Amino acid sequence: MKCIFCGNSESKVVDSRYLKDTSIRRRRECLGCGKRFTTYETAETNPMVVTNVDNMREPFKLDKLAESIKYATYCTNIADQSTTLACKIEKKLLELQQQEISTRDIVRVALDVLLEFDAMACLVYYTQHTECENFDDIRRFINR
Ligand SMILES: [Zn+2]
Repeated sequence: MKCIFCGNSESKVVDSRYLKDTSIRRRRECLGCGKRFTTYETAETNPMVVTNVDNMREPFKLDKLAESIKYATYCTNIADQSTTLACKIEKKLLELQQQEISTRDIVRVALDVLLEFDAMACLVYYTQHTECENFDDIRRFINR
């Protein structure tokens, strides 16, 4: 971390304070000009990797999940809660304690969470994210 005043890359930490469990604020003093500045460090709290049907791997993205939930809840009473719901789903996925999760896992957990809140949103998500082809599939899903 370079000094914001003179660009010197050497600094010492004069104070550290935990903000939340995952974040720390450090007060630094530049060894070049002696001025002080503050840096924030945040731990990477989401190391999950998603594997899709083609076995491609990509980092889990909450934004992407929130977007798909937003789409599924668009015409429902919970349309304004897509981010909250995505966070709930992410939390459940983290609880699985798997470094790698499949898109199938995500869909399964998302459907469970959505079903608690709004059956219609759940059904929309189901038709978007599974290979549902006809009413029989939907009926089977509803009766599972
Ligand atoms: Zn400096």
